[in-house]
Amino acid sequence: MKEVLTNPTSGYYMNRDVFGQTGDFITSPEISQMFGELIAVWLVNEWTKCGRPTPFQIAELGPGRGTLMADMLRVFSKFKIAGSDFSVSLVEVSPYLCQVQEKQLCPSQAQEATEVPQGSQHYKQSISLYGSQIRWYNHISDLPRTFTLFLAHEFFDALPIHKLVKVNQDWREVLIDLNRENLNLRYVISRDRTPACLYRLDSEKREELEVSPQSLVITQMMAARIHQDGGIGLVIDYGHEGDKTDTFRGFKNHKLHDPLVDPGTADLTADVDFAALKWAATQPRTFEDWEANLTYGTVDQKDFLTRIGINLRLEQLLASCRNVNVARNLKSAHKMLTDPMEMGSKFKFLALYPSVMKKILERYPPPGFV
Ligand code: SAH
Repeated sequence: MKEVLTNPTSGYYMNRDVFGQTGDFITSPEISQMFGELIAVWLVNEWTKCGRPTPFQIAELGPGRGTLMADMLRVFSKFKIAGSDFSVSLVEVSPYLCQVQEKQLCPSQAQEATEVPQGSQHYKQSISLYGSQIRWYNHISDLPRTFTLFLAHEFFDALPIHKLVKVNQDWREVLIDLNRENLNLRYVISRDRTPACLYRLDSEKREELEVSPQSLVITQMMAARIHQDGGIGLVIDYGHEGDKTDTFRGFKNHKLHDPLVDPGTADLTADVDFAALKWAATQPRTFEDWEANLTYGTVDQKDFLTRIGINLRLEQLLASCRNVNVARNLKSAHKMLTDPMEMGSKFKFLALYPSVMKKILERYPPPGFV
């Protein structure tokens, strides 16, 4: 999965635009500006609850075309959040998508400001339309140490999974092998236990499951940063609460595609195990003062967006809309985002907070989650 998606020369994400009508799949921020706007309002609200600490950064993992960030920065600027106390950090491995993001987020005249000083953790920098620094990083561990609003939308589902199955009361891993007779790829079951079978499986009731060690490590890093430097995390993805078994699949031209056929030409994805992410976010670590982070959710996308006010936002946009087609598109985007038969209940929201926020959150729980 890692090779197919992010191999530097031929990885699926590395050299093409895979989103939208002409791509392989469409994501919520690409459907409507309302999505990013509501998330931005939520983040500003929660940052305010923390006492509006500065300097601070918004860090997005896997920003795709940069559409979500563009919609959010527009809202941030309305709240006068721009300039030097605030910076934007994008964690992106794809050189192609990094360029798309720069075009989307930075006015052309700022592009000269891209010389990265030697020894920097980031690989690219520029200035946003609203005057804030934007920096690109390869990995979450490279991000600067400061108060951070973390955001990951459809990021974790792209991280590699291991597939485990129970065979005669013991765990084995499903591996991918080359059938020498016809040179097709095929699934095989490992002869013995593999390192992935070291995953915490003692009380596991399922006979088959997917584990994503990389997702757990990234979540732990996010949790550690939130604990040490202050911050809030919002993870949005399709997923489950540790009860699904077999969700690994490919997508090509908006249709399901066998992951073993023509690898590199289709998106590969697996549902996010939110129970596992919550476990990773709240595990005691080595810090002496560690008190587990707090998690809220998951809640369904339709509940989050409705509670934050998507209906009101739709009304506002419709009221200022003079074009029948645009109005129709707005209504259909609203339906796509919130209808349980579309994206409304498949997509889940999970929030992370540091333990020091406990008292404040008891009094003012996170909107969207209650
Ligand atoms: N959030 C966007 C894009 C989702 S697609 C949206 O919702 O529209 C996944 C994104 O994660 C792409 O930008 C892809 O290049 C990036 N990505 C995938 N694997 C990554 C990794 N290991 N590290 C950093 N970014 C990664």
